[in-house]
Amino acid sequence: MNDYRVLLFYKYVSLQNPEIIVDEHLTWCLKNEIKGRIFFANEGVNGTVSGTIQNIENYKSYLKSFTEFSDIWFKEDIADEHAFKKMHVRLKNEIVHGDLEEVSIENGGKRITPEELLQFYNDEKDFIIVDARNWYESKIGKFKNAITPQMKNFREWKKVVDEDLKEFKDKTIVTYCTGGIRCEKASAYMVENGFKNVYQLNGGIVNFIKKFPDTYWEGGMFVFDERRVVVPNSKQELKHIAQCHFCGEPTSYYINCHNLQCDKIIVSCHECKIGNDYCCSEECRKSPRKRKQYH
Ligand SMILES: [Zn+2]
Ligand SMILES: [Zn+2]
Repeated sequence: MNDYRVLLFYKYVSLQNPEIIVDEHLTWCLKNEIKGRIFFANEGVNGTVSGTIQNIENYKSYLKSFTEFSDIWFKEDIADEHAFKKMHVRLKNEIVHGDLEEVSIENGGKRITPEELLQFYNDEKDFIIVDARNWYESKIGKFKNAITPQMKNFREWKKVVDEDLKEFKDKTIVTYCTGGIRCEKASAYMVENGFKNVYQLNGGIVNFIKKFPDTYWEGGMFVFDERRVVVPNSKQELKHIAQCHFCGEPTSYYINCHNLQCDKIIVSCHECKIGNDYCCSEECRKSPRKRKQYH
């Protein structure tokens, strides 16, 4: 138990030959039993991987051996097994797809530490906190009083800022996302569009919940790997904010409907997930094309 680690990392840095790194990286990871998903682009790297404690230590050294990544920040979680089934290393235009190529990282919001954010809440400071993640992520967990835009994907962020958030240009704003990467450009886009006092949560939710569980984070944290969700709080009233789609019980767990044509994300407790054969509806249960892997 607890013999595995899950790493989350990113860095915006100019890379000369990302396509060469991609090939080398995949070979190295396969040889060293690292699994997960890593994206490289001219603008940097974005990855989440899992492996045994030793293999992850080796991976960290390997990545840091590249000059560009020598100071990269790894956010680390304990796990009982691999959090991924396969290893993917891909070349991309952006390390997070948001149609924000024109936005400059240097314009990003000021970094606010978990300690400072905690202080904002404790002092009841007048600030607006905005979730830069998708609707299904904030459905199972969010910061207290956060605005949770109903985005299908990060490409909708520009529209959210231009339409829904424009009234807050003179307010103190804090943006947050899972590990901080989306906020780099999300906050920069706001600054570039006239928002006067923008902060981005440094290291994201991951960094905050590790330091201050049972405070201002409510519910679970959505993760894009086999764990599906991380539940950081132990106080009963802060554990779950979502309800099972089938029975209404509080839970943070979700499934992708196993009908491949549907694939809808629904919050479901473990019992109902099994009872409904990992499907959202009777119709989907009858589908001949269903996902084979269970979780
Ligand atoms: Zn249920
Ligand atoms: Zn379905």
